[in-house]
Amino acid sequence: MNKNNMLAVIAAAGIGERFGNEIPKQYLKINGNTVIERAVQPFLESTHISEIIISVSQDDNFIQDQNFYSCKKIKYVFGGITRQESIKNALNAVDKKYKYVITHDAARPNVTNKDISKLYEDITCSKASCSFLYTHIYDSIKEVKSTDKTKDKDKFYLVQTPQICILKDLKASLKKCIDENISCPDESFAIEYAGLSSSKVLGSRSNIKITEPDDLKMLNNFLVRTGVGFDLHRYEAGTEIILGGHKIKCEYKILAHSDGDVLLHSIADSILGAAALGDIGIFFSDKDDKNKNLDSSDIIKYCLDQLERLKLEIFNIDTTIICEKPMISPHRDKILKNLSSLLHIPISNIGLKATTSEKLGIIGENKAIAVQSLVNLKEKI
Ligand code: ZN
Repeated sequence: MNKNNMLAVIAAAGIGERFGNEIPKQYLKINGNTVIERAVQPFLESTHISEIIISVSQDDNFIQDQNFYSCKKIKYVFGGITRQESIKNALNAVDKKYKYVITHDAARPNVTNKDISKLYEDITCSKASCSFLYTHIYDSIKEVKSTDKTKDKDKFYLVQTPQICILKDLKASLKKCIDENISCPDESFAIEYAGLSSSKVLGSRSNIKITEPDDLKMLNNFLVRTGVGFDLHRYEAGTEIILGGHKIKCEYKILAHSDGDVLLHSIADSILGAAALGDIGIFFSDKDDKNKNLDSSDIIKYCLDQLERLKLEIFNIDTTIICEKPMISPHRDKILKNLSSLLHIPISNIGLKATTSEKLGIIGENKAIAVQSLVNLKEKI
């Protein structure tokens, strides 16, 4: 593919009436980034695209807060009342001559660089005026009529963006639609209406268009935030230690300001990390007298409250306890049961492993115990 010979146009003037929401759908967040930030990213990264025009609504108060806003590759134009006018305004804002233009919807956050490359290859090979992504239909289809007749779904397919067009052909086609007051659902329609040829490339069903609140929920269900945690405490001679709220008879005790539950501390750290809240020391300082002999399950409860506030929940946890003594395996089931009830997740979503440090270092010499944890959080539905 030749580099830097394509213009990209992102249609972001939609106001998202179907959400019944004050924030337009393209500005809602998925796992920390807005829908439009995700939609624009592959076009920013593509070495084949040298300029991006984003058409926004005149009332748009959100675009300046997007992470790409000051990027030199991007220009902004006001969109029109219809999609075809928005795209036309964007094309008119370009000085440089481009052979191809690739158009995309701000509400499709799962577009990939591969989609862009596939379309470019297809339009250059097919010599068509337009190439678009399509997907098969797997659900049954009925026509909205009083008789509601079922259609043969194999005769239909779904059309997505991005779509790539020969720029001069798209300009002429849009002009024809606007002059004749024809509404264009997408650019491939304008090309088709003008009697020009199109080609299609199989896309991915994951390239969904966020249209209804349910779409965002579904997408969030597939996305996770990952956090890692680590904690280490010193041992001294004693009679028992506590791991995951379970007391284990042992010739050592854990030195700590709190109850020293190194397993819960490590898990709490991973939760706080995944939620981008910092580390356990920020909230439970070992210099603070009120944390003396603190029950570490209170730390976990605090973390879960924070997740509730952020509308996040734990999907799974994996932990590794690193010590020479005590043997963890006889206590594994009880620890798992405690963790499950404390974290409100099934045992099947908790990994609990134990290892030694081969008698090396402070852990090997029974001077310390450490725990590593990993947690995946997802948006609460
Ligand atoms: Zn600790």
